[in-house]
Amino acid sequence: MNTLSARLNSFEESATLAMAAKAREFKSRGYDVINLSLGEPDFKTPQHICEAAKNAIDEGKYFAYPPVAGYADFREALAAKYAKENNVPYKAENIVISNGAKQSIANAMLAILNPGDEVIIFSPYWVSYDALVRLSEGTPVLVKGSIENDFKVTASQVEAAITPKTRVVIFSSPCNPTGSVFSKYELQAITNVILKHENVLVIADEIYEHINFTGEFISIASLPGMFERTITVNGFAKGFAMTGWRIGYIAAPKWIADGCNKIQGQLTSANCSIAQRAALAAITGDITPTLKMVEAYKKRRDIVFQLLKEIPGIKSNYPQGAFYFFPDVSYYFGKSNGQRTIRNDEDFCMYILEEGMVSLVPGGAFGDANCVRLSYAASEEDLREALDRMKKVLARLQ
Ligand code: GLU
Repeated sequence: MNTLSARLNSFEESATLAMAAKAREFKSRGYDVINLSLGEPDFKTPQHICEAAKNAIDEGKYFAYPPVAGYADFREALAAKYAKENNVPYKAENIVISNGAKQSIANAMLAILNPGDEVIIFSPYWVSYDALVRLSEGTPVLVKGSIENDFKVTASQVEAAITPKTRVVIFSSPCNPTGSVFSKYELQAITNVILKHENVLVIADEIYEHINFTGEFISIASLPGMFERTITVNGFAKGFAMTGWRIGYIAAPKWIADGCNKIQGQLTSANCSIAQRAALAAITGDITPTLKMVEAYKKRRDIVFQLLKEIPGIKSNYPQGAFYFFPDVSYYFGKSNGQRTIRNDEDFCMYILEEGMVSLVPGGAFGDANCVRLSYAASEEDLREALDRMKKVLARLQ
């Protein structure tokens, strides 16, 4: 009685969503919380995208089930984007639209993993990778990048982690939570290792494609030999400020796309029709709003980097993309304010939330419990205030 499945008990709840819920709860109790936990743009969806959604409703043509994989013209527009911008020859048949990139990753894992298959996850990693591997009955194998190397995993580390059971390597670049961006040279070295093992695929999470300050974005599927080995994951939430619209997709060899299509046909039937029309306008329309958001993120990155430096004991890399910092805060472990002692990343986050009214996410959920994640997808004013509060409450720890 009342026993949930072993599958459900095999993974943790999403730490990002849990911290966001906690921040909301504090706010609803009247506290002035600055929420830097959820990776969610503070910008509104650009107007021309919203207009496309309104028009789609008024046209009265988009009320029925869409095709399971998504509207053909939308998938063709995405294929055209990959040919033009990413040098990857995807066709509409390679693409499956889902309810956010998270579902896209889940579909892909359910489609390709057998029980016990190993999935190499570059760590620090986005919280849901580990959970989705477990949900798909695979075995996560964490390969850790160090802060000294900008948190980047190297090709030789990948080589050492591959076993006959390895089926997938998954990582994001630009990276959530570290903001690291692999160069073409680094990706090439990693894919050279992968290509030596014929059973190994890559899930390339490219959701932060647009939020990249390096000036160079490389789609892994564009590297020699990698088209057949890569499941590209992307979506509209970050680059187009469309988190609530829930539009993500995979682009992959047809046999994998067909597998994702089959799973989706049983899970969700398809993705919301109106959201798809809005996303079509995003991908074919004016990119200027995205570029402006990226400029703003870049400026905020520099502000937060400077302010973090002013807090004693905090170590950080200099993120090159996405909108997160993943500072090492372990200097504060063992320190106390009165009766309250900070033992670990979770205590640190609860202290900052309860004493400073700033919400962050404990780094353990991303694979490094010496760190915490701070999202700078917030206004400059909020960021300055949040960092000031953090500095003040941390100064009280001895
Ligand atoms: N990807 C975002 C984050 O990491 C959204 C929340 C989530 O789905 O985890 O904060």
